[in-house]
Amino acid sequence: MNYDNDTIYAPSTPSGGAVSVIRISGEGAHEVLGAVFSRDVKHMAHAALMHGTVRSGAHKVDDVMAVKFSAPNSFTGEHMAEIHGHGGRVTMSGILAALADEGARLAEPGEFTKRAFLNGKMDLSAAGAVMELIEAHSTAGAGAALRQLSGGLFDKITAVQSKLTDALAIIEAGIEYPEDDIEADIKRDAVPLIEAAKTEIGRIEGTFASGRMLSEGYTVAIAGRPNVGKSSLFNMLLDKDRAIVTSAPGTTRDSVDDTIILGGVLVRLVDTAGIRRGRDEAEQIGIARAKTEAQRADMTLFVIDGSQGITEKDIALRQSLEGEVAVVVNKSDLPQKVTLEKAEETLLAQPIAACAISGRGRDEILAHIHPPEFSESDDVVITNERHARILKKAKQSLEAAIQAFDMVDLNCVTIDLKDAWDALGEITGVTVTEAIIDQIFEKFCLGK
Ligand code: GDP
Repeated sequence: MNYDNDTIYAPSTPSGGAVSVIRISGEGAHEVLGAVFSRDVKHMAHAALMHGTVRSGAHKVDDVMAVKFSAPNSFTGEHMAEIHGHGGRVTMSGILAALADEGARLAEPGEFTKRAFLNGKMDLSAAGAVMELIEAHSTAGAGAALRQLSGGLFDKITAVQSKLTDALAIIEAGIEYPEDDIEADIKRDAVPLIEAAKTEIGRIEGTFASGRMLSEGYTVAIAGRPNVGKSSLFNMLLDKDRAIVTSAPGTTRDSVDDTIILGGVLVRLVDTAGIRRGRDEAEQIGIARAKTEAQRADMTLFVIDGSQGITEKDIALRQSLEGEVAVVVNKSDLPQKVTLEKAEETLLAQPIAACAISGRGRDEILAHIHPPEFSESDDVVITNERHARILKKAKQSLEAAIQAFDMVDLNCVTIDLKDAWDALGEITGVTVTEAIIDQIFEKFCLGK
């Protein structure tokens, strides 16, 4: 995706609403609007909605409201226009076709935001936050994305970069005047700056564990032998019929997942296929996936069938599970072959009696799922894996820089510091390469 200021358009509201908004941006945005809109666009006021009709040749397409924005006072920083039409698919595609007839082209995903970034309207961390805001499902997640959007991360990273700039200046001076033998002085002045930068980066990087939970949700895998009632429990917890429930063992071949919101945090429930050695290939693939899902999950609900007691397979499966596990003794409506005390002793986790069919135990199970709490402080939380990777890289470069000091190799220190600086620039966009820009913006939805 290259940047040029040709005129682009895209629907910026999802289809099916009562009103659909189409955005137009680029040097010719006002001319394109003028060509399809019945009013005198040249004399329209900035940012004022005006009623009129969209025409394609002699044919009236829709009654609309339109607005124009003049560069640089627009979302993208270019000339822009918006057409607010009726929500129907026919009128919407009629308007889009009329725009295409005037030489505008459909925007690529993320192209509006990319232009905003390239025109200095937002830094890269804010651009990423726009995307996360669009995708954020939970209220806490939206809060974190909003804080990034308001530039919290940008400010923090810029502050770290300026510490590194100071350290670099001290060292560069030393390299230029080596005869003065001021290495000890340099070390005394520069190392605390680098240490402070490293600590701050480590702190921001550390927020990713909770940040990921905000954006992706807290994952709970439901695991257990075939037919113990995993799919039934999955439905019972979600309170809707999502997974196919069958009485033949091993028919939920693949994992199915869905989400609920608990305490403002997105919780992703994953129904795994029966984790056991399967006979045919499809089931084996399902089992491999189930194991991976259980390993990746933040916690596992390990389900046994209370009417059958604890089998050897249950014990083997339980042993293969790592991390936080809660045991669900299901089918409590049937005569039980195991007590909760015995289940706790054998399976080494607190058991909950449940009946997936009647809903018994639902509240107790949900109470066992406790995603970490988030303080609504003003601090930034990173929710983006790319940011986490960059911060890790920057931290490693700073560690290398501190080691290079001990070897009294100031040139190496400089290289490592610059590496760290550049890595951080990949978050703020200051040193970002074209390739990375494209990679980020292509992930945006169309029209954003
Ligand atoms: P999965 O293979 O572990 O996903 O098990 P399913 O959810 O498909 O359930 C297997 C069978 O057990 C189905 O016939 C369910 O109706 C039945 N079942 C599930 N939970 C209960 C329960 O709490 N009580 C009783 N009586 N039957 C249940």
